[in-house]
Amino acid sequence: MQEADKLISGEKLTHGEYVRLVESYKDEHVREALQNEAVRIRSVHYGRRVFIRGLIEFTNYCRNGCFYCGINSSCKSVTRYRLTKEEILECCSKGYEYGFRTFVLQGGEDMYFTDDILVDIISSIKNMFPDCAVTLSVGEREYSSYAKLKKAGADRYLLRHETADEQHYKRLHPKGMSLSERKRCLYNLKELGYQVGAGFMVGSPGQTSDTIASDLEFLSELSPHMIGIGPFIPHHDTIFAKEEQGSVELTLHLLTILRIMFPKVLLPATTALGTAETDGRERGILAGANVVMPNLSPVNYRKEYALYDNKICTGDEAAECIENLKEKFLKIGYEIVQDRGDYPFG
Ligand code: SAM
Repeated sequence: MQEADKLISGEKLTHGEYVRLVESYKDEHVREALQNEAVRIRSVHYGRRVFIRGLIEFTNYCRNGCFYCGINSSCKSVTRYRLTKEEILECCSKGYEYGFRTFVLQGGEDMYFTDDILVDIISSIKNMFPDCAVTLSVGEREYSSYAKLKKAGADRYLLRHETADEQHYKRLHPKGMSLSERKRCLYNLKELGYQVGAGFMVGSPGQTSDTIASDLEFLSELSPHMIGIGPFIPHHDTIFAKEEQGSVELTLHLLTILRIMFPKVLLPATTALGTAETDGRERGILAGANVVMPNLSPVNYRKEYALYDNKICTGDEAAECIENLKEKFLKIGYEIVQDRGDYPFG
């Protein structure tokens, strides 16, 4: 297939070629050829190593009304919670013992967490665990806020762009939220020296091969250090409750394409992929991913951070079961390592 050959040879594709490349997931031969190339490229930079991140979901309060999200501000069935600094540090201590060297602080856009409060939390983590990286995933904030958090020691920032198509963005978000603002935040974060992650859900309502092609083009332009993609999974208390779940096969195909487009990118096999299919994360690794993010949140809060229905949060998804995950990955030929797992600059 012409598009696949072009991708493998590192040539820039046109929009129409990206569309055809996305759709080529229906062709088993193309998929297999691309997957072999993705695995080869990843091994050049990472060998058989897989990095782990301890995910701490520290607040499910959110000021936004993203239509797809189970913790959006209009979901009335959610019991809201916030972790204290002490609880967050306790999660990190546990995680450190399990071998985690990156902690991801993720939450809704909860303005209770002012810059000062976040600065205090980040600097406390960095003081207690100087050999660990801190990743933030707390949504859109001012440039000055991102700057303060960076100065306090934050290393990375995850902010999925969700979709690079204006109309599609509007279908997924209420008035007042905009793609241009989302992009502006991503460029600000990059300028401030964060390792930056963008990304999108696969199969969100209104998504087409055309919008995915725009996502690939936007990612090429941004050139992020991390890319998070996972299938859209409906949440019963949102207006998308009756929508179809995103395809696992297409997600895997896109992981493969992303690995070839961005050889060094840190690419997680996401929780959503593991929720959509029992061995989703293993399949994600085989498709080109090289990161997993087990849940380090206090067990009693996990079910309240339900972005979508049936989100896995115990069993092998849980940080405390990391040994099981290690064994599973060894069986498919990959080694979970104790490492910060930074982007390999240079
Ligand atoms: N508030 C932060 C932000 O906006 O980046 C971080 C938290 S947000 C809940 C994390 C990600 O969850 C979103 O970027 C979105 O892609 C994903 N997500 C939300 N609802 C989802 C759903 N129903 N299915 C799959 N992923 C979902």
